[in-house]
Amino acid sequence: MATTQHILIIPFPAQGHVIPLMELANCLVKYNLRITFVNTENTHKRVLNALADKDLLDDRIRLVSIPNGLESEEERKNLEKLLEAIFRVMPGKLEELIKEINGSDEEERITCVIADQSLGWALEVAEKMGIRRVAFLPAAAACLVLGFRIPSLIDDGVINKDGTLIKKNQPLQFPPTMPLMNASDFVWTRVGNMAAQKIMFEAMVQNSRVAKLADWMICNSTYDLEPGAFDLAPEIKPIGPLLASNRLGNSAGHFWHQDSTCLSWLDKQPNGSVIYVAFGSITTFSKPQYEELAHGLELTDRPFLWVWRQDSTDEAESNATYLEEFQQRIARKGKMVFWAPQQKVLSHPSIACFMSHCGWNSTVESISNGVPILCCPHSADQFINQSYICDIWKVGLGFERDDASGMITHAEIKNKVDELLGTMTYKERALHLKEMMMSSVRKGGSSEKNFTDFVKWIKT
Ligand code: UDP
Repeated sequence: MATTQHILIIPFPAQGHVIPLMELANCLVKYNLRITFVNTENTHKRVLNALADKDLLDDRIRLVSIPNGLESEEERKNLEKLLEAIFRVMPGKLEELIKEINGSDEEERITCVIADQSLGWALEVAEKMGIRRVAFLPAAAACLVLGFRIPSLIDDGVINKDGTLIKKNQPLQFPPTMPLMNASDFVWTRVGNMAAQKIMFEAMVQNSRVAKLADWMICNSTYDLEPGAFDLAPEIKPIGPLLASNRLGNSAGHFWHQDSTCLSWLDKQPNGSVIYVAFGSITTFSKPQYEELAHGLELTDRPFLWVWRQDSTDEAESNATYLEEFQQRIARKGKMVFWAPQQKVLSHPSIACFMSHCGWNSTVESISNGVPILCCPHSADQFINQSYICDIWKVGLGFERDDASGMITHAEIKNKVDELLGTMTYKERALHLKEMMMSSVRKGGSSEKNFTDFVKWIKT
């Protein structure tokens, strides 16, 4: 008989999925569970390269890889090709991997599969192999509630069977504690071209349907953040916030090396003074938009820390020279890094606010640290998250776009920074939300209870 349970965890191959699932893995090993963490080959290489010290990885977490059938970086960046290849290639490879592990030694058998909710097929593989299964949602519960609603949206004539919109301006009837969702906020309508939108829609339909195969559905959120969504779908259990500070070991799971020089730079800035600017791992803006942003930040006359990934602009070819000039220009007031230890940054006392693309992880990390947010959503679920931030929790502000250029202008940036930081209201609300979130993971809190029940189940 196996002495400890052996859990297989599989994230979607993107940074915003690998980090929270790695955090979950780190939380689980504290309960003496063994983890096999399955990345695609490319992600696996990146995670290993970015690990500062491989010895710091908890030895109960084994990192392994399977192919996803895509050769080039170009293909991997194309959402349409990525989703197609993931569905076509990975289920068979996952099954082979589990057979190989289970065949090696009775003690090694996989006893539970925890799959990213956006890899619903992994639940089907686990079911077929008679293994218990869990769906993990690294997004707002509201997104899965939207996914569950798709059949009735089709029946009610709001969307066509392929996800294209019929009624564009009819908000969904959701409780007031949920974002007001118009058809144009539907996650799949906010990605790439029409072909990408259709494949994303199909994936959402399929994933929402097979989520029902899961014995547990867990979500990196807190009940009090989204009571409306959790009341509508009580089968989704919030266990968040999962944060690096909760866990053992080091920060495995990042695709880039984290540049900690920004922490000593932050030490030198006055308390509550710095604007932290970061747009997650995928979002890119145009050069003119960055120009506006830089100009706007300069006008605020406040220090800022700006994460500039090497693939940050839409026009990558001229990035190096452009970046050098840009860095020189902002050096007076600002600091730039390619990839920051974001959670440490957000918990630093010098931070005043976070200018963010509103990815769910960034949103959770910001409010868990009591940091108000300036919202620059770009795609997918980021508009729903913005609505939570600005309309429901009221801990941030969105930007108006210029009618003619569609850009956020420098003047708008300066105005919104001044508006957000010119009062204590947003900060106070953010601190209140922080307290609410952090008390949910303390002993007896709602997320902690769910997590304890989940661990009990997983250990039986
Ligand atoms: N992140 C980081 N350093 C950075 C920028 C981002 O560690 O310089 C992390 C961030 O803390 C979060 C993740 O990358 O955990 C980004 O996830 P999110 O859902 O916010 O956005 P996505 O990358 O999925 O668009």
